[in-house]
Amino acid sequence: MFIPTLRDDPADAEATSHRLMLRAGLIRQLGAGIYSKLPLGERVARKVEAIVREEMARIGAQEFRLPMLHPAEPWKESGRWTSVKEELFRLKDRKQADMALAMTAEEIFTTIARSELRSYRQLPQIWYQIGDKFRDEPRPKSGVLRGREFTMKDSYSFDLDRAGLDVSFEKHADAYRRIFSRCGVETIPVEASSGSMGGSMSVEFMAVCDAGEDWIVVCPGCGYAANLEKAKSVALAVADPASAGAVEKFPTPGVRTIEDLARFAGGAAAERQIKTLVYVVDEQPVLFLLRGDHDLNEVKLGELLGAAPFRPARPEECRAALGALPGSLGAVGVTALRVFADEALRGRREMTTGANENDFHLRHVDVARDLPQVIWADLRNARAGDACVRCGKSLELRKTIEMGHIFKLGLRYSEAMGARVLTAEGVEVPIVMGSYGIGIERIMAAAIEAHHDKNGIVWPIAIAPFDVVVATVKASDPEQLEKSERMYERLTQEGFDVLLDDRDERPGVKFKDADLIGVPFRVVLGPRALAKGCVEFVARAGGETREVPIDQVSAELRQRIPK
Ligand code: ATP
Ligand code: MG
Repeated sequence: MFIPTLRDDPADAEATSHRLMLRAGLIRQLGAGIYSKLPLGERVARKVEAIVREEMARIGAQEFRLPMLHPAEPWKESGRWTSVKEELFRLKDRKQADMALAMTAEEIFTTIARSELRSYRQLPQIWYQIGDKFRDEPRPKSGVLRGREFTMKDSYSFDLDRAGLDVSFEKHADAYRRIFSRCGVETIPVEASSGSMGGSMSVEFMAVCDAGEDWIVVCPGCGYAANLEKAKSVALAVADPASAGAVEKFPTPGVRTIEDLARFAGGAAAERQIKTLVYVVDEQPVLFLLRGDHDLNEVKLGELLGAAPFRPARPEECRAALGALPGSLGAVGVTALRVFADEALRGRREMTTGANENDFHLRHVDVARDLPQVIWADLRNARAGDACVRCGKSLELRKTIEMGHIFKLGLRYSEAMGARVLTAEGVEVPIVMGSYGIGIERIMAAAIEAHHDKNGIVWPIAIAPFDVVVATVKASDPEQLEKSERMYERLTQEGFDVLLDDRDERPGVKFKDADLIGVPFRVVLGPRALAKGCVEFVARAGGETREVPIDQVSAELRQRIPK
């Protein structure tokens, strides 16, 4: 068995799972976001995939294997050839035809559905595959947690109507809960934004994990949970004094940021400032107002603006639109441009904002009085401590990694690509679709993030590369070696996944390696226990050690490994 373990932490591997996957000889890096799985890593991947297959079968899903090399046509038909930007790997074949590498497979499954599904009688269908996906991630990092090539189980449901889609969606939610729990990864289902996939609603399954890059908001009171991209919350109210009079312009030389103005003598604390951001939306400047200490959420902005392309305005564009540079911008008196304001500004008094004149600000701003033109919207990121929109309790933020994502696509692809069936009444209708993804390597890495100690990985039994290591204390001793081999054969015959460590190494080295690769149980054949007809039986999790008679090892294992 080829298990190249590393004694020392590799450089450039920050995430715990990345470090341990390298050290335990599960993976090796080929390039940025590109990894080879070595035999031990492949064994874990297959165990995860087996669990995924079982749970997909349980909901009636059927396995396909689609090409990873796609002609551009289906992507052009769906519109994603242009709407997905650099993330899609594109190439040309020798005839200069556009091609793409699989990022997901909505388009490809839809081409099959539209040519093969004709009647409501053929519905519902759930189709899936487990295959490589390619995404040119802007920042591949944390090892296989965010690769540019990775393995995904992606499934697609085809239903006659919305009610059917709801059923397929719920089936997937159930399957996902079972998959993650069987793999030993605790996840929180959250409301999410559908992003480039399109569609009406989606749920992400998030694992709490330091190496994650997604923040979620959770309510300890009612269980509300949402991706920060989409989370709603109520900002704690700020008590305002009564209006102290009309708006007054005052000089603020050198003040450029919220912090500058908070420090400036005669300035204002961040929550008493109005932050004015200018974006170019469909070629037009548009203003977005937030409380000084709040952050704009660009995903919410995207949802608010629909399909309109937007980007932050450049300083010279701000000056052309408002007469001043960023740092001195405001919306008081601005009537020629659209102005959106975040809900947290409603009813605020005695606020300070830019005067649209470099180095000047306005004080005594009363939002209702002085900014009557604004369109109200939810524009900001929720924050820890905000109140829950459902129950009012204080919200918490958690750092997570997305393990799975289920989407109600609706008619997004079937309409664009013409996938229709005839109803019982003989009417042609577009098929109602859903799509559902799970990252195989993310499950592996998240399981390690959740289950390890200072000595290495502590695999959940269900996805461990082996159930048990049989370790020979002194491999040069023929009796020990023979008994170890017999133990290996017996346990293997009984259906356990057994690794025999008969290397000519010191016991300390073997035990260190066994701990590092995280095999749940260790059976040690050494002179002391053997003299009593026993072996030493060690549980990796918790380190419990006991002597077990040779002929009871398999019973001991059977009792501890749920089948
Ligand atoms: P993220 O927000 O983390 O980029 P995503 O929203 O792009 O994820 P989906 O398109 O929903 O991910 O893909 C489905 C699943 O595939 C994800 O839940 C995740 O488990 C896995 N996945 C996505 N991108 C990667 C990646 N770069 N490396 C490894 N697994 C990934
Ligand atoms: Mg992504």
